[in-house]
Amino acid sequence: MKILKTIEELQNIRKTITSNVGFVPTMGALHDGHISLIKQARKDNDIVIVSIFVNPTQFLPGEDLDAYPRKEEADKKICELCKVDYLFMPKISTMYSKEEILIKAPNKSYILEGLSRPGHFDGVLQVVLKLFGITQPTNAYFGKKDAQQLSLISQMVKNLFLPINIVSCEIVRESDGLALSSRNIYLSSKQREEALLISRSLYSAGALIAKGEVDVKIIKNRILEIMRTLDVEYVAIVDRDFNEIKEIELKNTIILIVAKFGNTRLLDNIWL
Ligand code: AMP
Repeated sequence: MKILKTIEELQNIRKTITSNVGFVPTMGALHDGHISLIKQARKDNDIVIVSIFVNPTQFLPGEDLDAYPRKEEADKKICELCKVDYLFMPKISTMYSKEEILIKAPNKSYILEGLSRPGHFDGVLQVVLKLFGITQPTNAYFGKKDAQQLSLISQMVKNLFLPINIVSCEIVRESDGLALSSRNIYLSSKQREEALLISRSLYSAGALIAKGEVDVKIIKNRILEIMRTLDVEYVAIVDRDFNEIKEIELKNTIILIVAKFGNTRLLDNIWL
C-alpha cells in the first residue's frame, strides 16, 4: 500500500491506471462500517483508493472538528490489512485554496440533517466532488447509515454527469444493534447503554410494519414511546426521495433518527 499526501502524486498514479478503480472516502477513525465499504470495493475493483480527510467545510462553527477522533496509525494498519492500494491523506491546505468555487446542495438538503446542520451538505458535496476529480473512480462506496448524504451524492453525480457508479452499502452494527460510528467513542458507558434504544426502536418499527401496520403516525409514536427517555432531535419517515409520507410503502421507505447524548449526535436509520 502506498500512502499519498499530495494531489500530484495521486493524479500521476491515476493516469497510469487503466483498470477499474474503487474509491472509499472517509474521515478516518476507521471501524467495521468503513471496513465493509473497503472490502466491497476490494471485491469489485482492480485498484482500491481510500481517502482519510477530516473535511473542515462540512463542520459548522462550534461542532466537533477539532475534537473529531483521529487515529492515523491504526487507520494505516487497517487499510494495509484490507489490501488497499493507495491511501490518500491530504492536509487541509492541500485540498483547499483561499478562494473556492462553492457547491450548493439542493433544497432537499435543508430538511433533517441539513436543517439541523445548515451548510453541512454543501461542504460534503464540495469535498466529495474534489475527491472524485482527483481519484476519478469507476465505483465509489458510501454507507446507507448517512442516508441523506448518499442520496445527495447520487444526485450530484446525476446532475453533473459524472461517469461514476455510486455503490450503497448496508449499515454495520455492533452485536447489540448500535450502529457503528467514529463518534461512538465519545459515549460514556451509561450513554452507550441508553443509545441502544435507537436501534431497538427501529427494529420495533420494522416488526410493526412486518405485521402489516402502514400508518406513519402510529409507527412514529411507537418509536418515540421507546425513546421517550432520550433527547431526540428528529424521527422522520420518508420515501427514498426524502419526501414525508403518510403511509409506509415497502421498498421505498426510510426511517431516520437522530438523538443527542450530551454533545454527541447519533444518527441511525432503517431502509424498508
Ligand atoms: P465517515 O468517516 O463518517 O465520513 O464515513 C465514511 C463512510 O463510511 C460514509 O460513506 C459512511 O456512510 C460510511 N459508514 C460510516 N459508518 C458506517 C456504518 N456503521 N455502516 C456502514 N457504513 C458506514
